Amino acid sequence: MVLNKHEQVWDSCLLFIKDHINPQSFKTWFEPIKAVKLVDNSLTIQVPNKFFYEWLEENYVSLLKESLRYELGDTGKLEYQILLENHKTPGHTGRDADQMVSADKIKNPFIIPGIKRMHINPQLNSDYSFDTFIEGDCNKLARSAGHAIAANPGGTAFNPLVIFGDVGLGKTHLAQAIGNEVLKKHSTKNVLYVSSEKFTNQIIESIRNNAVGDFMNFYQMVDVLIVDDIQFLAGRVKTQEIFFNIFNHLHQNKKQVVLTSDRPPKDLEDMEDRLISRFKWGLSADLQAPEFETRQAILYHKMEKEGIELPQDVTEFISYNIKNNVRELEGVLISIIAQSTLNRRTIDINLAKEVIQNFVKKINREVTVDSIKGLVAEHFDLPVEKLQSKTRKRSVVIARQLSMYLAKNLTNKSLKSIGENFGGRDHSTVIYSCKAVQDLMDTDLIFKDTVTELERKVQLSLNG
Ligand code: ADP
Ligand code: MG
Repeated sequence: MVLNKHEQVWDSCLLFIKDHINPQSFKTWFEPIKAVKLVDNSLTIQVPNKFFYEWLEENYVSLLKESLRYELGDTGKLEYQILLENHKTPGHTGRDADQMVSADKIKNPFIIPGIKRMHINPQLNSDYSFDTFIEGDCNKLARSAGHAIAANPGGTAFNPLVIFGDVGLGKTHLAQAIGNEVLKKHSTKNVLYVSSEKFTNQIIESIRNNAVGDFMNFYQMVDVLIVDDIQFLAGRVKTQEIFFNIFNHLHQNKKQVVLTSDRPPKDLEDMEDRLISRFKWGLSADLQAPEFETRQAILYHKMEKEGIELPQDVTEFISYNIKNNVRELEGVLISIIAQSTLNRRTIDINLAKEVIQNFVKKINREVTVDSIKGLVAEHFDLPVEKLQSKTRKRSVVIARQLSMYLAKNLTNKSLKSIGENFGGRDHSTVIYSCKAVQDLMDTDLIFKDTVTELERKVQLSLNG
């Protein structure tokens, strides 16, 4: 293929640029660019949208200049051409209206049909408010930081606010309360709540549709971005890269970012250092297990909401026994109510005891990599140690890959720590194994049944 002069120049610039930035940034910011023309020593490049152009100017202008000087000398100039975003769907004759709707569809990953102007649905649950979030020593710092943010989003030192703590301690509740409160106080602000999982899926989708630029444009319109459970971004390189860029844009523009995590930022696994260091810019506030009085207060609050009353010795008994998880506290309460209405039983200590026993058994047992290895080894009639070994015997390899696959899907463990559980293999081996299992399941129905059966066994082992 013969390259035009402008393409040649741009290709050489790219070689230079590639040498100076990381591959991911190169891919995101430079691969989509096209050289258009070279006139009077001025190179015109085409970028997908305005945001893209601004980002280049903000972050890569000196690199671009340098690469150009290298190619075109001191008089070399760079001009941008912004590709107009024209998403008109073929076959439609209507003009403006159609165009706007379809543009919205592509730009807004949370599609709100019929709304033409970009309006973000905050995706919040209005039950999660500050009013319903009981205060205690266990949550004082996080709660008051949340209040300060809601009063002045982006304007406090708490940016980002990272709320961390064990499961069931109120991270999602508090993060959403901040969002709800912002909307109450500043109705024109764009607030958006998104789980890390949804965020990741949207990115995958946007990559598939070649619409990463739109995706980023959308997120950059948000004034208060709440991302829940960021530990799930572990090992997701591309998602982290895009999140990093969105984060930077929001932070630079004094927009508020609120994150939740099941551990402090420094302990996040498989997470880029530059992201972790940014998470530490603001405030990390933890939620601890509530103390006895707070547990009591939460219980009373929920009883009031449900419109029921429990004898005091029962609430005390529950508060004494359920210590580490507010969701569990709620669960016990609901079960007690259910038992008493369905089976017409009086609410007393005995009923509370029964319910709690069942509950604690269910909740405290979680799927572990070891339990998975045990079940798989048993199924294939292999000693467990074989799963860690280096042997390449086909039957062992399959059992090992299957164990990794189950561990990936049924536990919260990171790829890295799963790999370590299988004789110190690295995360790419785990990814490869999961893919191999998936492929085999797609072609071999008997194998697929085996996987389903083992999945069921793992789940059953929890309740047994
Ligand atoms: P996490 O996100 O940390 O796993 P959630 O925010 O989902 O926890 O909280 C679990 C349940 O406990 C929710 O129903 C929430 O409303 C309730 N909860 C947690 N903390 C409190 C609190 N301080 N006051 C009232 N309810 C709470
Ligand atoms: Mg949560």
